Amino acid sequence: MTMPNFSYVRPKSLKEAIQQLSSKGARIHAGGTDLLGCLHDDVFQAKKVVSLSHLDDLRGVRQTKDGGLRIGALTPLVEVVNSEPIKEHYPALAQAASDVASPQLRNQGTLGGNICQKPRCWYYRGEFHCLRKGGSKCFAENGENHYHCIFGSGHVCYIVHPSDTAPALMALEASVRIAGSKGTKLVTLEKFFILPMTDVEKETLLEPNEIVTEILLPPPPKGDFHSTYRKVRARNSWDFALAGVALVLQFRADRIEKARVVLSGAAPIPWRSKPVEDAIMAKRLNAGTVERASEAVVKNAEPLEHNGYKIPLFRGLLEEELTKIAGNFRT
Ligand SMILES: Cc1cc2nc3c(=O)[nH]c(=O)nc-3n(C[C@H](O)[C@H](O)[C@H](O)COP(=O)(O)OP(=O)(O)OC[C@H]3O[C@@H](n4cnc5c(N)ncnc54)[C@H](O)[C@@H]3O)c2cc1C
Repeated sequence: MTMPNFSYVRPKSLKEAIQQLSSKGARIHAGGTDLLGCLHDDVFQAKKVVSLSHLDDLRGVRQTKDGGLRIGALTPLVEVVNSEPIKEHYPALAQAASDVASPQLRNQGTLGGNICQKPRCWYYRGEFHCLRKGGSKCFAENGENHYHCIFGSGHVCYIVHPSDTAPALMALEASVRIAGSKGTKLVTLEKFFILPMTDVEKETLLEPNEIVTEILLPPPPKGDFHSTYRKVRARNSWDFALAGVALVLQFRADRIEKARVVLSGAAPIPWRSKPVEDAIMAKRLNAGTVERASEAVVKNAEPLEHNGYKIPLFRGLLEEELTKIAGNFRT
């Protein structure tokens, strides 16, 4: 397959980029590591590709007035991995970014592109006219569904969200700023991603001419605060998550005062696990709590024919990660 023809523009301002994106069939190009593969493989088409590469304001990590962080959407993943404030105050995000793909892809790929990337379902990426491409059938439901979801399908579409950074950002209560023809808006990551039941052809609420300009993290809580991201993959080199968990826990004395638990490799969106949060809130992080959390993480799961292995995987993942935090907490 050869790369199809499209026009390519590099606007010099955000306003111009939004104007360029307003014509039908225009697509945003950030690092291009996902977009160009999709165009080459005819997953979707573009008449015009709008590069954001001249929009320097969309790059970099800086502190906000309230003590949080602003990460420009065009910031390469490698900068997220190496950023001192991120490593110090939001380690789950630095870990998640370092788990993305390979060094080359982390140099080229951006944080905005990582949360907006398209799913990796092999039917969607292959020559199947599936529901997500406007067809009438999900081929994964009764097909080769080893890498598909166990939550959130709505029995419509069984993709898993491919991003490692999105679950960490959601656990850290991040928001995205979105710019479009009607101005800008701030949306929490929980509202940003949408389930197949809402719209099976979209993964986010972005309209075609809207651009994520920045990702905002609230100030890190004071006191005893832990944030981690752990990913399990089939190969130790680059690979997408079979299962993963972002954990953000805040302790008061020896009890969990606040918990946010978001799974990757589990659902069509980064999947907030309320059953785990409920199981550990206000509890001491002891063996009983860890056991209840590892039971809760698979509550209401709906495995398919070939992905039942995710049930023990998620249970073990929760058990190991919480036990590790409990160990750190005791020292
Ligand atoms: C071999 C390989 C392995 C990979 N492994 C992993 C992995 O393990 N974990 C993981 O998380 N990811 C993985 N990825 C995905 C990779 O991280 C993404 O390709 C990358 O982060 C996307 O960033 P980009 O800047 O290149 O986005 P682009 O390719 O430029 O864009 C991706 C999509 O997002 C849209 N987009 C980009 N920026 C914006 C914006 N600011 N506003 C609105 N829409 C936007 C584009 O239109 C496009 O549809 C892998 C990719 C490859 C090719």
